[in-house]
Amino acid sequence: MPIDGFPDNEMHCFCMDCHQWHEPAEGRIIALEGDNVANADPINAVSALGRVLSGIGNSKQFICYACIQRRRRRRATIITVLGLAIVVAVIWRTTMT
Ligand SMILES: [Zn+2]
Repeated sequence: MPIDGFPDNEMHCFCMDCHQWHEPAEGRIIALEGDNVANADPINAVSALGRVLSGIGNSKQFICYACIQRRRRRRATIITVLGLAIVVAVIWRTTMT
């Protein structure tokens, strides 16, 4: 639950996703996606490329648990849609030949 009123920079944490101040127990500090080069996830690679191009260098930031859940659902949706698109393309390709 975001902080009401004026936040204290030393007591509260700023969520990088919803851009609201939270208690430290309401989230955690995470490493942004794409920092690990060995992780070959294409979504992470796009995130890392965008961060490099925009000049944002801080790779660890606070994120609240609500935003973590929202990001997981968004990622699962993107991967599901991409998977279904690949399946449809393969079926389309095999039926056309
Ligand atoms: Zn948040």
